Amino acid sequence: MAVTVQAALAEGSRLFREAGRAECPAADISAPALDASLFLASVLDTDRSSLLSAGPRLLSPDSYGRFLKLVERRLSGECTAYILGKKEFWGLDFFVSPAVLVPRPDTEILVEAALEHIAGRQSGKEGEGIRVLDLCTGSGAVAVSLKHECPGADLTASDISEAALAVARENARRLLKKGPSGADAIRFVKSDLFDGIACLFDLVTANPPYIPSGELADLAPEVRGEPRLALDGGKDGLDIAGRLVAQARDRLTRGGVLLVEADPRQMAALAGIFEKNGYRNIRRRRDLSGLERVIEGAVQE
Ligand code: GLN
Repeated sequence: MAVTVQAALAEGSRLFREAGRAECPAADISAPALDASLFLASVLDTDRSSLLSAGPRLLSPDSYGRFLKLVERRLSGECTAYILGKKEFWGLDFFVSPAVLVPRPDTEILVEAALEHIAGRQSGKEGEGIRVLDLCTGSGAVAVSLKHECPGADLTASDISEAALAVARENARRLLKKGPSGADAIRFVKSDLFDGIACLFDLVTANPPYIPSGELADLAPEVRGEPRLALDGGKDGLDIAGRLVAQARDRLTRGGVLLVEADPRQMAALAGIFEKNGYRNIRRRRDLSGLERVIEGAVQE
C-alpha cells in the first residue's frame, strides 16, 4: 500500500494523540505532530522543513514500515532524542545515547552565563587562555558549546561515567575543530567531581544530578529512561551540588566563578551553601520559563 508523506504524518500524529488520551499513558508526548515529522524526516534522511515544504510525495512501503517502528518505540515510552540519536542544543546537533542525560533548553542559560563571564574578562570574547572546567559534563553539551563559541579558551570536561565521556568525546570530535597541534579541542577526564583534577580554573560550570531520590519514581517515563546517575541528587537533591560548591572554592583562581544548574526549589538552600563557603556576588538566573535555574558565586579577588 502506497502512503503519502502527509498521510504518514497524519497517522503518526493520530497514534500519538490517541496514546496520550489513555488513562495512564506509557509515554508523555506533548508535541504529536512535531515528533511524527522528526521521525519521518529521520527515515527519509532529510530535515523537517524540507519534508514539510515538499509537495505530495509517495513513501515506499519500506520507509513507511521503518517510520511506524520509530513511532512504536516512542509510544512505548522511549524518548525522541534517544530514538533519533541526537538533540539540538545551542544550535548544534549533539549525539545522544541512553548513557547521557538529554540536553535541555534550560541548560542554555548555563552556557549564556558562562559566556558573559568569559567576555567580561581581559581575555575577550574568544576566551583566549581562560581556563574553564565543566563538571558532570554528560553529553558534553555545555563544554562543547563553550569551546565552539570561545575557541581560545582552555577547556576541561569531566564526568564520573566512562560511557558518558565516550559520548562527550564523540560530540567534540563531530562539532569542534582540533587544536593546531592536532590535540583534542577539549581535555576529557574521568573524575568524581574534583577528585581526579589537580589544577585551578577561572570558571567552573556544572549541571549535576539534582532530582531528590524520592521523586525519581514519579518522573515521566521518558525521564526515567535517562541514566539514574545523571539525575539522582540524593535525599534533598543537593548531595552532589553541595559537595561541588565546597570543593570548587579551593579550585578557582582569584575572582574565579562557579556556575551551577539546580532545581528552582533548591535555590535558597544552595545560596546558603555558597554563602557558608565564602563565595561573593551570589546571583541566580532564570530559565526560559522564568524559573530560577542557575546560581553563581565568585571567590575573592
Ligand atoms: N533538568 C532535568 C529534569 O528536570 C534534571 C537534570 C539534572 O538532574 N541535572 O529532568
